[in-house]
Amino acid sequence: MSQSLLIAIVFLLGLGVGSFINVITIRFQPDKNIPFTQLVGGRSRCNFCGHQLKWYDLIPLFSFIFLKGKCRYCGKKISWQYPIVELLTALIFSGVTYRLLRLDAIRLVIATGSIPFWVWFAILLFLFYSAILIILSIIDIKHYLLPDKYIYSAMGVAVIADVIFYGLSKTKKFNFPSCGLNFLSSYMDYFNCQFNVLISYLLGAVAVGGFLFIIYLLTKGRGMGLGDVKLGLLIGLMLGLTNGLLALIAAFIIGSFVGIILLASKKKALKDWVPFGPFLALGVFVAIFWGSFLVESYLSIFNYLI
Ligand SMILES: [Zn+2]
Repeated sequence: MSQSLLIAIVFLLGLGVGSFINVITIRFQPDKNIPFTQLVGGRSRCNFCGHQLKWYDLIPLFSFIFLKGKCRYCGKKISWQYPIVELLTALIFSGVTYRLLRLDAIRLVIATGSIPFWVWFAILLFLFYSAILIILSIIDIKHYLLPDKYIYSAMGVAVIADVIFYGLSKTKKFNFPSCGLNFLSSYMDYFNCQFNVLISYLLGAVAVGGFLFIIYLLTKGRGMGLGDVKLGLLIGLMLGLTNGLLALIAAFIIGSFVGIILLASKKKALKDWVPFGPFLALGVFVAIFWGSFLVESYLSIFNYLI
């Protein structure tokens, strides 16, 4: 299969998953523990008139465009969340797949012929991580909380995946990079290779989660919630030490910029609560998409000075 066809298929998959994410996050209620089957089950209805929606009202992105953002039956405006989340998920899905296929370690194996099974596994895994991060960000923006249910299930998946990657890194048979998957530049491989793959993931969880926990303690829970600390642990398990730290740094830089803009535009006061989960998720995507570019540029400043 050509890579552009694969990325196109992943884009369509992202539209579908985005529509699924809308259902989950719109039906989510913070004070009720709705079982997952009930959350995703049942026919879709208009949020205003309750009219049961037909399949052609539910095509991601396209239905919203054809209906000009209004319900076919009552004419009420449909939330912009639907098309935005669908498109965003599709873009992130195809971007993450593109990035994975461009990683040196993966590019070199693919060049030798067929795509080994662990590449498919890595793609599916990172699409799952992306979906979880989008769900958590939306719920955090709307309800100022990060539900344990999603974080713990993702942690379970991440620990299993880390053990599988560790096993793969220990054998030469499948051409898996011995220092693990790394979204940063090849310079960083030296640092990454100081630990075995499993230790790197665990150190990542301790470093990212631990740093957020210290801030949680210092600000007495006003700057950071325990949900952010758990999300930090999850990010470490997803990315490992070096990638995880870059995601953390990116989250703080973007968070400060947005914070300053919100304060300056008087949209928020200093005492207001701004959810940090979406910035952590954004940090992960920055590390995946631009990690190698950022590290190379940062290091080239020193090369230039010397
Ligand atoms: Zn309606």
